[in-house]
Amino acid sequence: MQWETVIGLEIHAQLATQSKIFSGASTAFGAAPNTQACNVDLGMPGVLPVLNREAVTMAVRFGTAINAQLGMRSVFARKNYFYPDLPKGYQISQFELPIVGKGQVEIMLDDGAVKVIGVTRAHLEEDAGKSLHEDFHGMTGIDLNRAGTPLLEIVSEPDMRSAVEAVAYAKKIHQLVRYIGICDGNMQEGSFRCDANVSVRPVGQAEYGTRAELKNINSFRFLERAINFEVERQIDLIESGGEVVQETRLYDADKDETRSMRSKEEANDYRYFPDPDLLPVEISDAMIDEVKSALPEMPDMRRERFESEFELSRQDAESLTASREMADYFETANGIAGDAKLTANWIMGELSAAMN
Ligand code: ADP
Ligand code: MG
Repeated sequence: MQWETVIGLEIHAQLATQSKIFSGASTAFGAAPNTQACNVDLGMPGVLPVLNREAVTMAVRFGTAINAQLGMRSVFARKNYFYPDLPKGYQISQFELPIVGKGQVEIMLDDGAVKVIGVTRAHLEEDAGKSLHEDFHGMTGIDLNRAGTPLLEIVSEPDMRSAVEAVAYAKKIHQLVRYIGICDGNMQEGSFRCDANVSVRPVGQAEYGTRAELKNINSFRFLERAINFEVERQIDLIESGGEVVQETRLYDADKDETRSMRSKEEANDYRYFPDPDLLPVEISDAMIDEVKSALPEMPDMRRERFESEFELSRQDAESLTASREMADYFETANGIAGDAKLTANWIMGELSAAMN
C-alpha cells in the first residue's frame, strides 16, 4: 500500500526578553543553578504575577510577521500538573484564547515550488525549571533558573507531508523569529525546541491517521531523523496488523529510534482554568500598527529584492538572506565594492570558507 505522511509541529521559541514573563528576575543563560528564580517564578503563597510588556510586544511582532489574526482578547490560564521542576504545581499558559490566531508561512521545496503552511495559533506561556539527570548518580538535580522564562508556542496545521517539509517549515520559523529579534534561536541552549506530531494514512484517504507526538527535539537533523524513524515504525506496525496508538514518544538520538513515554490513557488532565491573578490581554489597533511599522524587511521580501535589485540568482539571494546579519553584511559590503555578483561570490565562497 502507498502511505502518505502527515505532520504538524509545535515549536517553543524562548523570547529574548531581559526578565521573566511575570517577574523581574533575569533570563540570562548559564547562571549558577537556582540563583535566578524569584518567589513569583516559584509561585510562593501570596505572590502576584505581573505580565512583561515586552513579551506581549514580541508575540504581536510574530503575529504581524506571519499575517496572523491579532487583536482578539487573550486569556492566561493555569495548566495544572505536578512535576519536581514545577514546584508551584501549575504552568501559566494560554488555552482557549491565544494572543496570536491563524496565520501562515511559505516554504520552498526542492523543486523550487512554494508551499503554504498554516499556523493555527501562537500563545504565550512560562517555561518550567529543568531536571538534571546526568551529574547526580541515582538522583535528579533541579535547576529552577528557567522557571518563568517567556515562551511563544507556535502550533502549525497538519500541513506537512514529509520530514523534509517539516524541517523546511521549522527552519523558516527559526529564520523568522531571529529576523524579527524575538528569539536567539539557540537550539543547544534550548531556546528553540520542536515537538513533531506524526501520522500516516493510505494515499487517497481523507481522514487523518492516529498521531504520535515526538517531544523536545533540539536539532533540525534530529527532527528529520525522528520523523523518518516514526513514519517507518507506524507503517510497519499497521502493515503487520497492529494499530497506532495516540501517545507521546521520545526520540533517542544515540539509538536513532523513538520510544513510548506516555499513552493517551495516561495523558494528563490539566484542569485548565483562567488565572485569577492575571487580567485578560487586549491588544489595541494602535499597538498593532506600531509593531507593524517597526518590523524589519522580512526574509522572503528581502530575497526577492536581492534577486531584482542585484540581479542575483534565487539560490544566491536565498543564501545571502538566510540570516539578517548575513544580509546586512552583504548590503554593506556591496555598497563599498559596487559589484553585487562579485561580492556575493566572495561572501559565499572565500569568506564563508574562512569562517567555517
Ligand atoms: P494537543 O493539544 O493534544 O497537542 P492539538 O490539536 O493542539 O493537540 O494538535 C497539536 C499538533 O498536532 C498540531 O500541530 C496539529 O497540526 C497536529 N496534528 C493534529 N492531528 C494530527 C494528525 N492526525 N497527524 C499529524 N499531526 C496532527
Ligand atoms: Mg501537543
